[in-house]
Amino acid sequence: MNNKRIFLSLSQQSGFEQLYIQKALDDNWITSGGPNVNDFEEVLENYLGDESYVTALNSGTSAIHLALILLGVKTGDEVICQSLTFSASANPILYQGAIPVFVDSEPETWNICPEQLEIAICDRIKTGKKPKAIIAVHLYGNPYMVDEIHAIADRYKIPVIEDSAEALGSSYKGKKCGTFGTFGILSFNGNKIITTSSGGALISNSKKIKERAVFYATQSKDEAVHYQHSQVGYNYRMSNICAGVGLGQMKILDKNINSRRTINHFYKEIFKDIQEIELFQTADDDFFSNYWLSTILVTENKKINRETLRLAFESMNIECRPVWKPMHLQPVFSGYPYYGKDVAENLFERGLCLPSGSGLTKEEKERIKEVIKIFFNNYNS
Ligand SMILES: *Cc1c(COP(=O)(O)O)cnc(C)c1O
Repeated sequence: MNNKRIFLSLSQQSGFEQLYIQKALDDNWITSGGPNVNDFEEVLENYLGDESYVTALNSGTSAIHLALILLGVKTGDEVICQSLTFSASANPILYQGAIPVFVDSEPETWNICPEQLEIAICDRIKTGKKPKAIIAVHLYGNPYMVDEIHAIADRYKIPVIEDSAEALGSSYKGKKCGTFGTFGILSFNGNKIITTSSGGALISNSKKIKERAVFYATQSKDEAVHYQHSQVGYNYRMSNICAGVGLGQMKILDKNINSRRTINHFYKEIFKDIQEIELFQTADDDFFSNYWLSTILVTENKKINRETLRLAFESMNIECRPVWKPMHLQPVFSGYPYYGKDVAENLFERGLCLPSGSGLTKEEKERIKEVIKIFFNNYNS
């Protein structure tokens, strides 16, 4: 059998990327900003709907950083952040000299827990500081409890930054993820559902805010023929070449979502009779997931655990990855406040992300199936 490595999440090409890259070269527009960037933003705005304004940037991380800047987060301010996430959700809080306050997940969506969120907000207010923002994440493409989280945020009048880096194409009650918060962010990193090689976007609901975002992202140039600056600026704009890749990629976004959802179904079939494995699935039809990554929980016993299963895949050259290690357990964030119990910690200890690339072939699926079959046959014998 072919033993070529099966990766967790490889990008797929539509074939149109080359066309738009060539256009950038023909226009001799080989810098940040430009016609492809404007077009890419427009395509995304139409896709997201709900009068969203999109600013294309050079990464999802810069999008989160700009959101914090636009919300006026400064040194010493506190920002609430879902603990179970990729470090890019939380790092920009430190860029601003602000203090991250981490909150646990709930087991239904694996995302920020409404109950613990409210406990955290009340406790921070009691100690004298109302949090300046809440960063909530649609982890692995699965929408968080939108109604509950935004009801709490509204009640305490705290803006939400919606980390939709993994959730382009996901929706809640028919409304696209990324359009619920004061700001939404997207990532087009190489392993996301579509890529621009490296890139991201900031989503807001006003043209004015978009103009502010572009201002900061292009070194905060004041109106003047000479270069004049009255504020700190950033070099965060997306390049015209990268936006060309993005325009090509948008043509297969829906196809990619379909593939990933089909892969999730493939795993559902495999695991339906294996009681030690619980495949993550959305609770009901209100939650539409792009299933960017299919994830499972392994019930540990004397013979198996998440790590033995991961190593079984690895021995067949198949990449699987533990669920994100919660931020409150990361050395770089130790010492910051945490509100919650052990939900995120448990998901980390038991959770595994399975190969979910949009281009997973029939043969690769067979290889994956075989590993699982052998693993559980051995264990049962
Ligand atoms: C990928 C990712 C980001 C950051 O995006 P980059 O484009 O890699 O900077 C932020 N948050 C989450 C949850 C991510 O998965």
